[in-house]
Amino acid sequence: MLSYRHSFHAGNYADVLKHFTLQRILSYLVQKEKPIHYIDSHAGAGGYALRSKEAEKTSEYMKGIVRLTQRHDCPELFDEYLALISQFHRQGDNLRHYPGSPWIAAHCLREQDRLFLYELHPNDHKLLLAQMKKDRRVQVQLGDGFKGALAHLPPISRRGLLLIDPPYEIKDDYQKVVKLVIEAHKRFATGCIALWYPVVERSWVKQLETAIKATGIANSVLFELSQSADRSGYGMTASGMIVINPPWTLKNELESVLPYLADVLGEQGQGKYRSERLTGE
Ligand code: SAM
Repeated sequence: MLSYRHSFHAGNYADVLKHFTLQRILSYLVQKEKPIHYIDSHAGAGGYALRSKEAEKTSEYMKGIVRLTQRHDCPELFDEYLALISQFHRQGDNLRHYPGSPWIAAHCLREQDRLFLYELHPNDHKLLLAQMKKDRRVQVQLGDGFKGALAHLPPISRRGLLLIDPPYEIKDDYQKVVKLVIEAHKRFATGCIALWYPVVERSWVKQLETAIKATGIANSVLFELSQSADRSGYGMTASGMIVINPPWTLKNELESVLPYLADVLGEQGQGKYRSERLTGE
């Protein structure tokens, strides 16, 4: 049963951290001419209307991307990410549309690059297909990204990024992401893998970190942004990205903006961040 729809959460503080990190990784990878393969195992709908019934139900975007766009003191490093958001939104001052990871990736990548997108929910798959259909670099699959993603590894050019962004509505996902990381790394040891995680119960994240360390995979970092203090049984209070084989610039970049994000996106002064090396190079 698939009940998760990203349209309820689009543009929230978790999307801001995830999509900013995605943009920084891809902007680094495109510096070399060689083609890049971008694989999105859980792609979502590709774009979201913020004035929809779903988005308005929680209005999470108001405490996420809208806060950032209303500031006049954003660090310069946000320029490219914010330019993408405004390119997707197109009209007027009030933000009405927010892009998903496939659209952001497609607009960071070049003619020679390829995108492989998996989405399991038939409705979101249909929306994704409609959004991407004119882009000949893109393959959209209706299917299980935990399995499908591996078929694209390693890319012929040996350059690429795998984004793993499941809903974690089933607790199994915490184990499945680790399995996918292990299998993906076996096939493509030099590839960059970016794994998103929510903090709903701190103990689950601790187990995830331990499991990633136990894989023996070297060179991984973790970035986390809290909107409020950890609270069991409350829902998501923070979220993070674990990046394997990150661009060497990424940790410094994230550390230069995470205090700002914690300040702007945190609730009642409770914003916090983590930036840690999980495994050594
Ligand atoms: N990556 C998207 C973005 O950043 O814009 C958001 C993805 S959302 C967090 C997770 C998506 O995964 C949902 O659209 C859900 O329908 C889809 N999904 C759930 N299980 C899946 C699976 N096994 N394979 C592929 N997609 C799945």
